Amino acid sequence: MGNYVADLMHDVKAKNPAEPEFHQAVHEVAESLEVVLEKHAEYRSSMILERIIEPERVVLFRVPWVDDRGDVRINRGFRVEMNSAIGPYKGGLRFHPSVNLGILKFLAFEQVFKNALTTLPMGGGKGGSDFDPKGKSDVEVMRFCQAFMSELFRHIGPDTDVPAGDIGVGGREVGFLFGMYKKLANEFTGVLTGKGLNWGGSLIRPEATGYGAVYFAAEMLTTRGETLDGKTCLVSGSGNVAQYTTEKILDLGGKVVTLSDSTGYIFDEAGINRDKLAFVMQLKNVQRGRIKEYVDRYPEAVYTPLDARADHNPLWDHKADCAFPSATQNEINEADARNLLAGGVYLIAEGANMPTTPDGVNVFLDAGVLYGPGKAANAGGVAVSGLEMAQNSMRFGWTRQEVDDRLRLIMKGIHESCVSASERFGTPGNYVNGANIAGFLKVADAMIDQGVV
Ligand code: NAP
Repeated sequence: MGNYVADLMHDVKAKNPAEPEFHQAVHEVAESLEVVLEKHAEYRSSMILERIIEPERVVLFRVPWVDDRGDVRINRGFRVEMNSAIGPYKGGLRFHPSVNLGILKFLAFEQVFKNALTTLPMGGGKGGSDFDPKGKSDVEVMRFCQAFMSELFRHIGPDTDVPAGDIGVGGREVGFLFGMYKKLANEFTGVLTGKGLNWGGSLIRPEATGYGAVYFAAEMLTTRGETLDGKTCLVSGSGNVAQYTTEKILDLGGKVVTLSDSTGYIFDEAGINRDKLAFVMQLKNVQRGRIKEYVDRYPEAVYTPLDARADHNPLWDHKADCAFPSATQNEINEADARNLLAGGVYLIAEGANMPTTPDGVNVFLDAGVLYGPGKAANAGGVAVSGLEMAQNSMRFGWTRQEVDDRLRLIMKGIHESCVSASERFGTPGNYVNGANIAGFLKVADAMIDQGVV
């Protein structure tokens, strides 16, 4: 194989300049797959990985809208349709000022493998806009969502491409997007997931990513004969994933001592109990406030503002057993990873996508701790999105218990796939290789069956 990864990365960087997150995601997967491609010449001769890293289609569009003052505003909209070998494109929409093509390509690329791991028939995609919902009125958010969908609707459909939420896109935004799609397409279909319960949504979808990450963590602990009961956990973020991660950790007897947002983090040594979590949910989902306000209500907690110039994030310095990064990409660098280990953390389950830098990942892998990468650990969200699609097709809804049971089984199955692929290809306990290889094999075999398209 020689310099396979180096040659591939040289081409990827030349063809996709200024997309560092995309390069990072491809590099990690290519390294994991080297051993697979060595054993399976058919994947190399069919150029499977080279085809997977090229999106099947990218749509980039103008989103003009009018703010509350009557001023015209322009944002950029994207949809990256990455791979449809095993099902319609599926993946969330992110509304955040940092959104650009490279970030969405990294997310769409990761989504291909993640969706394959769920065992459900979903291809990979991702989209969004550099629109910032923070500080906008509900009506401004509605106008923006309508403008965004007035272009996106012609590219998506229940059997073509099924978007969902991600950072900055929750129930409110999915509602506005769905309403506009329905009006333009003149049909009521399951074209988006994360819908409201009384108009086609699934029970447990809002909870699914966080719950799934904790179920995955519980599976990892089982390999050491342990449970989450009594474990102290660090959680970052305070949005959808962080909230339901915290809830499930509480259900399983653990204690969560941190939460954050993009301006800082809180440390509550006594633990964030159910009352405090209810306060955070109200603060973030209804009042749309800042995590700093937690200490106004609970003065025993400590707030630390984010120092963007610091070489590490003090959130990861606290003593704990487990860490659940649930905010954004590259939030744990090498220094943070070392601080986590020094503080006693030996399990990391990534609710966020690619929250750990490559150097940070190496620190975890070298230490032999339980490290569940986002592709595997946060697949519960898209898995329940797949279950929402199934329920929409059946015109039927499962109970909360039924969906939760299926979610738990899917997370257990993903854990088993990672473990067995990592063992089969010679790196037992390495969930990064396990997830990349197991996800790749399913997509690669489907692509070979379907010919060069
Ligand atoms: P969310 O509800 O919008 O919450 C995002 C949280 O992360 C907020 O607390 C936000 O703080 C913080 N955050 C965002 N960008 C940040 C930045 N650049 N620096 C520091 N903090 C930042 O989004 P979410 O759905 O919980 O998503 C969180 C992560 O999980 C993302 O990586 C997403 O891709 C991943 N994920 C989500 C799902 C899902 O079903 N929602 C599924 C799989 C993976 P502010 O409020 O200050 O911005």
